[in-house]
Amino acid sequence: MNSPKNSLRKPTFPATLDLSLGRGAANGLGVPNTVTRILPKKPAATAAVNSVLKTLPTKTAPVQTSGLGLDSSKVRATMVRKLEAQGIQDVRVLTAMNTVPRHQYVDTALANQAYEDTSLPIGWGQTISKPNVVARMMSLLFENKTAPYGRVLEIGTGCGYQAALLSQMANEVYSIERIRGLYEKAQANVRPFAIANLRLLLGDGMLGYPKGAPYFGIIAAAGGDAIPQSWIDQLAVGGRIVAPVENNRLQNKPSNGTNEQSLVVIDKSATGIKRTVLELVQFVPLKSGIG
Ligand code: SAH
Repeated sequence: MNSPKNSLRKPTFPATLDLSLGRGAANGLGVPNTVTRILPKKPAATAAVNSVLKTLPTKTAPVQTSGLGLDSSKVRATMVRKLEAQGIQDVRVLTAMNTVPRHQYVDTALANQAYEDTSLPIGWGQTISKPNVVARMMSLLFENKTAPYGRVLEIGTGCGYQAALLSQMANEVYSIERIRGLYEKAQANVRPFAIANLRLLLGDGMLGYPKGAPYFGIIAAAGGDAIPQSWIDQLAVGGRIVAPVENNRLQNKPSNGTNEQSLVVIDKSATGIKRTVLELVQFVPLKSGIG
């Protein structure tokens, strides 16, 4: 799982950095069926981020700026600074977001909006989440974790952007998509970057992917009415799930069809499962089957 080849790909960071985010999330919260809101922490790691922005070369294939009309590495760095100003502190996450060219994962007509903090359509009625939400979820997934990070399962590959980001951090990434057209689009999007530790799968992510289990982390880009038991079963002890879940169902109310969701974190320990409910989010629905 933690092959030396893959660990060579991971960036290294100053050992003294505080990489935690939203530590309050673990403050004895997460009693099942309790809804708790935790605001993201304010920025503090500016110096570290600036050094990331100054020193990091892109690790992916050379960025093609055609269609974007500007130097994409500069706009990407501006996006990363904004993320940091919004409270994203995890340098591993910021580094990945500074590296992966988001404009090459969205349609050419939308490339000039790729570095704005906005969600964008990716076809088949689906959307790529805004960078802030992507960064927040990845920060939660890696919160308080140190390398080696093991294997991550992403539910909802979409255009492949978050999968590419995850592959910058985790040793191995499995990403599963239920819509064939998007699965093929993601394959085409990641191909030029030859990401050795990323495996794209076509299937129903509600079932997880048992062949790859146990997972160090599971992250979902689509929200259902509960965290599927298969994800909990396939999570390693010590692992974490980060996923949107329908708000009403979290409060044991009937679904009201509004698709209002909260971000939920599940931590699995030797003694059981801890659930923490965080801020409101909006994701496309988690659907079963392949379609
Ligand atoms: N992470 C993606 C975001 C994609 S949007 C990106 O970076 O582009 C969420 C995706 O979840 C959609 O493509 C949708 O088709 C997919 N999805 C919804 N339910 C699913 C399921 N049960 N299994 C796999 N994918 C699912």
